[in-house]
Amino acid sequence: MSRPVEAIVNLANIRSNFALVRKLAANSRIMAIVKANAYGHGAVPVATALAAADAFGVASLAEAVELREAGITQPVVLLGGVFDRDEMHDVVRYGLQIVVHSGEQFGHLLAAELREQIVVWLKIDTGMHRLGFEVQDFAEIRRMLEITGKVKELVLMSHFGCADDVGNTATGHQLAVFENAVAGLPGEKSLANSAAVLAYPQTHYDWVRPGIMLYGANPMLRPLQAHEVLAPAMTLRSRLVAIHNIAAGEAVGYGEQWRSQRPARIGTVAIGYGDGYPRHAPNGTPMLIGGQRAGLVGRVSMDFITVDLTDIPSAAPGDEVILWGDGLPVEEVAKMAGSISYQLLTGVQKRVRRCYLF
Ligand SMILES: *Cc1c(COP(=O)(O)O)cnc(C)c1O
Repeated sequence: MSRPVEAIVNLANIRSNFALVRKLAANSRIMAIVKANAYGHGAVPVATALAAADAFGVASLAEAVELREAGITQPVVLLGGVFDRDEMHDVVRYGLQIVVHSGEQFGHLLAAELREQIVVWLKIDTGMHRLGFEVQDFAEIRRMLEITGKVKELVLMSHFGCADDVGNTATGHQLAVFENAVAGLPGEKSLANSAAVLAYPQTHYDWVRPGIMLYGANPMLRPLQAHEVLAPAMTLRSRLVAIHNIAAGEAVGYGEQWRSQRPARIGTVAIGYGDGYPRHAPNGTPMLIGGQRAGLVGRVSMDFITVDLTDIPSAAPGDEVILWGDGLPVEEVAKMAGSISYQLLTGVQKRVRRCYLF
């Protein structure tokens, strides 16, 4: 047997999460966000499974080219736009669409000699202050873009900073700024990420842009409601490879960071931060062994972690261990580790075998 770490990716669950987006945003088109290797799930298998998506969103030209070379034909949008002028040629060559969020990017578009017009997603900074044109400059930029003759179609977009937190008034403010900026202007509009798909139907406009919810993780700080059921797409699993009985007072792992109060049975699981398991997961971080919860003990190392099996006497070497996914939300593990589901999912390393369920 080879090293037993696997990420089982359930593509049917991704499709059912996509169907929920369809239901919640019935009058919008859906740009499925597949950046960062589809949040660690595998960009090509996910995009192939989402044949019903109206477009895909990626972070880089390389990510877009990967989809095109795999035969994906839907529109593909570079969410961060191009990073230099030369990339404009591949935008045309691969039939991509681009975000333009800065004067520099506007310059790249102006300078590039294009043999075809392209679709541009013009980004407005409505308050997050990360990317986008200032509201007061936006109308002028829009006019200048139109007269370049290089733009086939202009989509007006922005992005939320706090849509996961329904108690935060920033979202309402960003929406008001967006509405004001685009009022009366022609062209399609786009604002909603996963959290806004769920919590802010008035932001759906022509295109919604769900990412994390397609992968079955809750984008909200609050629990999901009954009509919002998402199915986790990735189950990260490995196996117990050793068991040690230790006396009370003995320490486990690097730095003697955990010491047992009682005689204990310690299991060693073949997974570590070298696979993407969070190194800062504290003692007590849950995992599932034969469907029962057990807690991490000791420091996470590169290839192994240790778990307290004292209360699961039936556990034996070779048993399957679920680190997150089926029966254990990745959000819960992320929260324990002071992280977020996005980081844990995108952090699953190349050496972890992906197995696809269709
Ligand atoms: C990543 C991204 C999204 C998706 O965000 P989720 O929170 O994963 O739904 C949407 N829009 C843009 C511009 C993004 O970069």
